[in-house]
Amino acid sequence: MRFADLVTFYDRLDATTKRLEMRAVLVELLDRLSPEELGEVLYLSQGLLRPEYEGVELGVADSLAGRALAEAAGRSEEEVTEAVRVSGDLGTTGESLLAPLRPHPPPLEVTEVYAGLLAIAKASGEGSQEAKVGALVALLRRAGPSESKYILRIVLGRLRLGVREMTILDALAQKYAGGTRAGREKVEAAFNVSSDLARVARLLATEGIEGLAKVRLEVGRPVRAMLAERSPDLADVLSRMDGRTALEYKYDGLRVQAHVREDGTTRLFSRRLEDLSGQFPELVRDLPRALPHRPVIVEGECVPIDPDTDEIRPFQDVSRRRGRKYDLERMQAEVPVCLFLFDVLLAPEGPLLDRSFPLRRARLAELLRPDERIRLAKQQVVASVDEAQAFFDESIAAGCEGVMAKSLAEGSTYRAGARGFWWIKYKREYTQGLADSIDGVVVGGFSGRGRRAGRYGALLLAVYNEAEDRFESFCKVGSGFDDVGLAELPTRLKPYELDSAPEDVMSGLTPDRWFRPSLVLEVRGAELSLSPIHRAAFGAIRPGAGLALRFPRFTGRYRDDKGPTDATTAAELLTLYRSQVKQPVRDAGGSAEA
Ligand code: AMP
Repeated sequence: MRFADLVTFYDRLDATTKRLEMRAVLVELLDRLSPEELGEVLYLSQGLLRPEYEGVELGVADSLAGRALAEAAGRSEEEVTEAVRVSGDLGTTGESLLAPLRPHPPPLEVTEVYAGLLAIAKASGEGSQEAKVGALVALLRRAGPSESKYILRIVLGRLRLGVREMTILDALAQKYAGGTRAGREKVEAAFNVSSDLARVARLLATEGIEGLAKVRLEVGRPVRAMLAERSPDLADVLSRMDGRTALEYKYDGLRVQAHVREDGTTRLFSRRLEDLSGQFPELVRDLPRALPHRPVIVEGECVPIDPDTDEIRPFQDVSRRRGRKYDLERMQAEVPVCLFLFDVLLAPEGPLLDRSFPLRRARLAELLRPDERIRLAKQQVVASVDEAQAFFDESIAAGCEGVMAKSLAEGSTYRAGARGFWWIKYKREYTQGLADSIDGVVVGGFSGRGRRAGRYGALLLAVYNEAEDRFESFCKVGSGFDDVGLAELPTRLKPYELDSAPEDVMSGLTPDRWFRPSLVLEVRGAELSLSPIHRAAFGAIRPGAGLALRFPRFTGRYRDDKGPTDATTAAELLTLYRSQVKQPVRDAGGSAEA
């Protein structure tokens, strides 16, 4: 396929935020692709070159891309900078500066653009900057204006067509799996285990739905994480678990999926499947020692530990290590971490995803040689509310945020990428009569006044409605931001700015600026109430009313570990609302900003 043709599809995708329309455009696009092109196009359309977990970074700096554009357009770098200042986007600047020039023949093929971009991403070491600029100039010279716009956006890591994985899965299922529900489930299951859309697509295109049987768990390829439902009280937890369950401490840290190869080589993945290995070298070093029988894939929660007392410390301590490339040694000493393992997905004998949880947990205990740093998550099987309460209190006293109840039933397999009642979380906040913290997606910004003039004064947050695949507003939050945080907001949010309300966002409020749902942050509040202007779980409790968080306050915690669809869901908010009706809440005493 010519890249110019692909770009016409991008224009159509860019013009809509409706999932059904996107799916239709994608199906049409799939019809036009050869199996070889399929993978490349699916990666490119998500702004990627390889599956996310491989960490192939395209993000070329603006200055470098500007230099390449200047050279390709025969302009000075100053002219380009000035044009970008006016347009606000290097992509559209490229489009207009290159418009008067005729692209060099022959026209670009998708495969060539992909190869060029991969070369740019992979160039490293001495002279790599020149190599990147050179490769980019070569592409831009052969590209038409619209093609250049997209090439520049991809190169800068700012494509953002808004095509989510779930929409691509829909399109794949429609084209290759007969559009049936069972087919869609198989496609998603294959993706949940391989975490690689392009691989799934290629198998479907060449071997049909049967080909998906080839997708097996492999060391080095992260599995999408199994997720928990929540419950309002321990009696409810027990009744959902048929009176008996394994309770575990719910550690408040970072989820880590560790892949340890036979030779001991270890890679760590976050819940979003990013490679965390560089951030926790001590875990990479110690895991093979703790897991002598390999290969294995294990999961656990990484939490900061006080080296003097061995007590668990607040999550904020470990988040300070995120994204830090420097000072790693110092951080290791200052913020030592401990990994509490709670599951095993693959053992030397093979994948364990289909085994029940009790079998997996027993296998984990056999495989692990615990040490200071790598330990087993604390667990107790309970059969009464009293026992459960005692274990819960113990977990809070140990610095955890609550408990995770895990089903002991035969069907308690590892459900990659799925949220269900096989795991139920129950957190401390419920017992204090306060609403649990909520992970909200930023969908809008309101201009500030007074001291906040010229900045955002408050943000519009939404929860994710899984059933409808859309985002529903539940609060406007302005408290809890410090001056530095406020000053940073415009830059943080810039990449997601939109000119109009996205189709997949529902709110009765109109912010001064809409954002593509991307950034997730944690808020707390006094209670959930019914509101005519917010749209979370609209109509579920009372017609014409959604759920709203009263006195919301930003906790200071950006959930960079969560994507928009990992945020708190509308269904979870509803559970929270119902749980507080049973347990009347006290006012947290926050100030109303909304
Ligand atoms: P939440 O992020 O509130 O939805 O809670 C789910 C998260 O709790 C998981 O993704 C893990 O990161 C974390 N977690 C802490 N302790 C455990 C445990 N014992 N079992 C499973 N997940 C745990």
